[in-house]
Amino acid sequence: MTTTPDAATDARGTGTAATATEREIAAAEEYSAHNYHPLPVVVASAEGAWVTDVEGRRYVDLLAGYSALNFGHNNPRLIAAAKAQLERVTLTSRAFHHDRFGAFCRALAELCGKDMVLPMNTGAEAVETAVKTARKWGYQVKGIPDGQARIVVAAGNFHGRTTTIVSFSTDPEARDGFGPYTPGFDIVPYGDLAALEAAFGDDTAAVLVEPIQGEAGVLVPPPGYLAGVRRLTAERGVLMMADEIQSGLGRTGRTFACDHEDVVPDLYVLGKALGGGVVPVSAVVGSRDVLGVFRPGEHGSTFGGNPLACAVGLEVVAMLSTGEYQRRAAELGAHLHEELAAMATDGLLVRVRGRGLWAGVDVDPARFTGRELTEALLERGVLAKDTHGSTIRLAPPLTISKADLDWSLTRLRDALT
Ligand SMILES: *Cc1c(COP(=O)(O)O)cnc(C)c1O
Repeated sequence: MTTTPDAATDARGTGTAATATEREIAAAEEYSAHNYHPLPVVVASAEGAWVTDVEGRRYVDLLAGYSALNFGHNNPRLIAAAKAQLERVTLTSRAFHHDRFGAFCRALAELCGKDMVLPMNTGAEAVETAVKTARKWGYQVKGIPDGQARIVVAAGNFHGRTTTIVSFSTDPEARDGFGPYTPGFDIVPYGDLAALEAAFGDDTAAVLVEPIQGEAGVLVPPPGYLAGVRRLTAERGVLMMADEIQSGLGRTGRTFACDHEDVVPDLYVLGKALGGGVVPVSAVVGSRDVLGVFRPGEHGSTFGGNPLACAVGLEVVAMLSTGEYQRRAAELGAHLHEELAAMATDGLLVRVRGRGLWAGVDVDPARFTGRELTEALLERGVLAKDTHGSTIRLAPPLTISKADLDWSLTRLRDALT
């Protein structure tokens, strides 16, 4: 949609009204940087798996904030935890202790079966933290000569948007025009253990890998890949760092996507759902041998581990500790994949991938771009997001009812027919 002078005037509340949707989109177009291309829907409120737009239309949310909303919109337990904390204390900085910090770190470490947590805010900050941890560990523990540490990453990765992280992206959109790039990264094909092993040298400190590549289109690596990464890294004294920011915290039917191959990485990199869709909360979780490398002043964040974040994060961890959400994701996920497979058999979809309540769906590029399909779904009351080309990703809240999931799959079938 283009901005008309009238619409922009409306957005400032001085002109005659177009629709509320048009006014909001015009304001966004005029006053915000165009680093996103949102679908033309303006959300006003949400609950569970449903959102309501400014015109009162309702939609099932099959994106769930890229898995930040694993527990649904406005989850009563998480909102209650946030409200209770809002009235006590919200921010102290790490200059002082506060009474939610220890409980959160202990609970998250226990959920991960690890010793220590380093809390940050966004996913990209957690990835940056993992990169710094690997380098420090490489010099201090492994004995790599100063300034030489290397980290192996996979082609097609998505780890965030900072200058260092885009330095090892293979996506031209994410990377081009943002150099000079941070050195020290080796890129190998995803899912290829021989290539990984060949990339290891004496100066390799770590492997950073998504157990399932989300942004790349929910790419599940070949069976045995994660176990192979674990074996090779252990043999060579290299850290395995699993970016579970999107794949973790119940999405795939287990607490972590690594659990499907009984793999425990050296570092879990977590974010998105850790903040319960309420506040940004991220963390790196690992053993004392690894995260113990940090000394005061060497890393930090004004907001990382703040009381509000810890109160919400603690509730998220408590909710995951029962296994209930993981079970739902496994059961509903099996159903989702059955239904999608049936659509593929009927020739409506080209390919379906994924695990648990998470699917990447390729449609025939001659029929739809991913964007066109998400627009057709929007008209039918379903929110989804394309990734690249003719792929869309489906990741409903883990709290979605089977009836709502089935309703949205009926809409998908209709859009494809
Ligand atoms: C979203 C995501 C990130 C970045 O998280 P932000 O909170 O957007 O910075 C990193 N890694 C993966 C796998 C992600 O899905």
